[in-house]
Amino acid sequence: MNRDLPGGLDAMVRDLLAWFAARARPLPWRRDYEPYRVWLSEIMLQQTQMDRAVGYFERFTARFPDVASLAAASEEEVLKLWEGLGYYSRAKNLLAAARLVAARHGGRVPDDPEALRALPGVGPYTAGAVASIAFGRDVPAVDANVERVFARLFDLDLPPREPATAAFIRKTAAQMIPPGKARELNQALMELGALVCLPKKPRCSECPLAGRCEALRLDLVFERPVPAKAAAYIPLEVATGLLVRQGRVFVQKRPATGVWAGLWEFPGGTVESGETPEQAVVREFMEETGLRVAVTGRLAVVRHGYTRYRVALHCFSLRDADGEAPQPALHAAQEGRWAALPDLDGLAFPAGHRKLIDRLGRDIPFPGPALP
Ligand code: SF4
Repeated sequence: MNRDLPGGLDAMVRDLLAWFAARARPLPWRRDYEPYRVWLSEIMLQQTQMDRAVGYFERFTARFPDVASLAAASEEEVLKLWEGLGYYSRAKNLLAAARLVAARHGGRVPDDPEALRALPGVGPYTAGAVASIAFGRDVPAVDANVERVFARLFDLDLPPREPATAAFIRKTAAQMIPPGKARELNQALMELGALVCLPKKPRCSECPLAGRCEALRLDLVFERPVPAKAAAYIPLEVATGLLVRQGRVFVQKRPATGVWAGLWEFPGGTVESGETPEQAVVREFMEETGLRVAVTGRLAVVRHGYTRYRVALHCFSLRDADGEAPQPALHAAQEGRWAALPDLDGLAFPAGHRKLIDRLGRDIPFPGPALP
């Protein structure tokens, strides 16, 4: 690990700021650095690639242009606009935070990092990013891009999130900030990580810091950052079913807390040990709705990754097993409804269910008779 760079930090900062001034991408929230827009962009960019986030950002701000309009929104509408971005707790936290900002801060996003951290969904990185980028406060903002840049520049030989390494990165990131320049410097570090110091194919020949980079000098670029112990993915078999009556399929809204809170779904659940997916969907339907159903066909197996899980979603068409079928009970939901296929577009579903819906009526026939 080399913590004494040739030319020192000042020269590095100068080169980095010059590069950023010339190369910064014209992102929508960079037009005016309006605090609500900067905050929203940072929440959207957690776990989401820039290219995808920009489209969502434009649609979201068209509907909710400021804190007041977001604070007055229903969770249903916010989730619908968020659908497809995943990690729905971000959307719920954002809404809760907007309501707090409206109630406690007069609708103005606070500029103090501690006040920002008191908002739901705002951690140390996001607080630093909003305080510096929106308000010009001289505080660091260390995300995964910055960690990678530092790991290479300083040839850090421990994973970036090891306590000693994390403390060094944060302290150095703070020391580097020229007075009044945190907005530019923090974004420059992140932009360098996003555009040049890429995880798998770093573009060292285009890097403004190549002459100061220890990992490049030692030919250790591909060994840095040192990876943390990899988390194992957990495979999960899940079964779900479409029960259709008079051309409408039953969907239910998940409870207000827990996994995918407030999202809609087709009833179903995890395939248990010793069960087939067909048996699982029949059992889950009974447990969740009190209805006895029978499987009439296999629709698809939809595969999707959720954080640590790799899910295989087995999708079936169903019929009522009892002739005079009662209405579904809501043992695992806060609301239920019978929806025609076009109605499903107006509801927010988890990504696996949405993948299935997007295929219904295209390569997967919608089960049951069409609407009259
Ligand atoms: S020289 Fe290469 S490894 Fe070093 S900071 Fe630049 S892009 Fe990253």
